[in-house]
Amino acid sequence: MRFFPYLVFLVTIFATAQQTAVVDFLQMRATVAPVFETSSVRGSVDVTFKILKQTDSVYLDAVAMKIYNIKYTAGNITTANDKIWFTGDFKQGNVYQAYFDYEATPRQTLYFTGNQIWTQGQGKYTSHWLPSIDDMNDKIEFDLSVFAPSGTVVANGIVTDIVNTSKGNLYSFDMQKPMASYLVAFAIGNFQKREITSKSGIPIELYLSAQDTANFEPTYRHTKKIFDFLETEIGVPYPWQNYKQVPVRDFLYAGMENTTCTIFSEAFVVDETGFNDRNYINVNAHELAHQWFGNLVTESSGTHHWLQEGFATYFALLAEREIFGEDYYYWKLYQSAEQLKALSDEGKGQSLLDPKASSLIFYEKGAWALHMLKERIGEEAFKNAVAAYLKKYKFKNVATQDFLAQVKATTGTDISAWEKDWLQQTAFKAEQAFNALLKSEFIQNYFEVSRLATLPWEDKKIPLTTALTFPNDFAGQEAVYQLASEPIQNALPLYQKAFESNNLYVRQAIALSLVEIPETLKQAYESLLDDPSYVTQEAALYSLCVNFPEDAARYLDKMDGVQGFQDKNVRQLWLVLAIVASKYKLSEKESFKEELRGYTSKKYSFEIRQKAFQYIHQLELYNESVVNNLVNAAVHHNWRFRNASRELLDEVLQNSDTKERLKREYNSFSISERKYLTRVIEVQ
Ligand SMILES: [Zn+2]
Repeated sequence: MRFFPYLVFLVTIFATAQQTAVVDFLQMRATVAPVFETSSVRGSVDVTFKILKQTDSVYLDAVAMKIYNIKYTAGNITTANDKIWFTGDFKQGNVYQAYFDYEATPRQTLYFTGNQIWTQGQGKYTSHWLPSIDDMNDKIEFDLSVFAPSGTVVANGIVTDIVNTSKGNLYSFDMQKPMASYLVAFAIGNFQKREITSKSGIPIELYLSAQDTANFEPTYRHTKKIFDFLETEIGVPYPWQNYKQVPVRDFLYAGMENTTCTIFSEAFVVDETGFNDRNYINVNAHELAHQWFGNLVTESSGTHHWLQEGFATYFALLAEREIFGEDYYYWKLYQSAEQLKALSDEGKGQSLLDPKASSLIFYEKGAWALHMLKERIGEEAFKNAVAAYLKKYKFKNVATQDFLAQVKATTGTDISAWEKDWLQQTAFKAEQAFNALLKSEFIQNYFEVSRLATLPWEDKKIPLTTALTFPNDFAGQEAVYQLASEPIQNALPLYQKAFESNNLYVRQAIALSLVEIPETLKQAYESLLDDPSYVTQEAALYSLCVNFPEDAARYLDKMDGVQGFQDKNVRQLWLVLAIVASKYKLSEKESFKEELRGYTSKKYSFEIRQKAFQYIHQLELYNESVVNNLVNAAVHHNWRFRNASRELLDEVLQNSDTKERLKREYNSFSISERKYLTRVIEVQ
């Protein structure tokens, strides 16, 4: 899984009873039919299990499920305590089979958003929508059939059959190898598909919502290169029949590596310009790397979570190095080292083997540990160890010791100090890390530029000028940021140089840091509106309108119609500026307000809605429908959006008229909205 980088999230893995020693669930053929109207699911399960140790009962995890139409001859099937129990006189070595139908209304793991339905099994439990095994240590061959009332189904494995009926489409999928239950997934939506093939012949299916098909190329840019690179770099052929990727609305994380079937956030669907700011490449590579690290070999418990996230983060970084080059690779390592050092300096460092560590530790410290291990034992031994480890434990579960044993088998180098410093130690070994970074000439150069920050102007004028001559993306940005604290007459010629560099990221640094635009830079600054970056365009549009309100009309004309990212960052800012600008008539302003208010509706993604709510709050543009939309947002499945909305709603409810109206109209809200309203207003 890939969290958004600004999230710090605790992953808790619950210890489960060791049923895996008693029974091995071999195969499950399941048909599932989600029901939009009730957000529920109906299904049937045909399951096969092998008894490893004589017993009289085994179970599947199944949260609040009703079962019926049972076909099972070995004993009874009953539901209790979020489980489905199978009883019988089970003999060691024997294989048993059971069939039943079921119904469930999942509180989590299965989501209905807009016209899409999708699942998220990690961090949640698949057993909310499909009887399965919460314990990652029992791997099952899942063959799903999914009934979609309309649209396309994407799920694990290869499509073997599609039956179209007047009521919808039944898609059947085949998997040949077993996986942990948290990796079972499907997505239903109005998707279009493009297919490419890896160098090794693996079919790769790329999906996009029908309205986004113009973004196929920038969204999935370099996908084949990433796939071919990882297959070669990891040194073990891609272990599954095919691979597919599908973006969905209101996803909970950045992406999730369901076996053969990555689901990711629609926020990564970008056009040509958005690609420069916020592309899918890192998440694309990260989820693909998990197909080996996590899906082929799976952690046996949370203690070994870094074997999944650390490896996926590290191999994604290697893929990015392949695409963006060595400087980018070192820059990202440097960025994560800074974050880890800051955390560690606050006394909040954690060991990689702490099952309760934060995602920053599992992901970034995990990647650092692997970078340092490779530095220590050399590229060849590292690659051999990784490949041998994957081959030895394929379709099985792993612990850190299993990986270390393979490392020790491939190298004569003593790694005990590395184990202590990078696996066990809670503090981040910043000095070792920074010394390793100094191997990069770019990093040396960057450090030289960043050290200039404390020097008087006379001492840094020339080196900053040099840094802005044919600038490196990152060192050039650093040079621009340092100009912000200088008197403008000193900085002017250097800003001019930065503008003329034509480096997108250096110019973006001006947009983000120069607050008061001097008249002499006005024309150059205006050219930022044409830069192919929605970050730059948004910041520049705002700054220009604030600095030169007399010219706001011209800037607004120029940027009218630009949407920006998936969250409509440029469009929403444009509306705000147009509402306060003198250029427009009152009636026009009313229509801008209505457009902005409209973006709070559940018709739109939570990213669009969150931005709209923020602007509406700042401009005090609330009306009844916006408040109703806010109540709806306060029960959204995305916790970040939900919590932000709840805070805003608390403020809105300070107004007693609003509160009274909500009380009067209480019955017009949905069940979950009413439940929340009951908590925040006193309903009679
Ligand atoms: Zn991950």
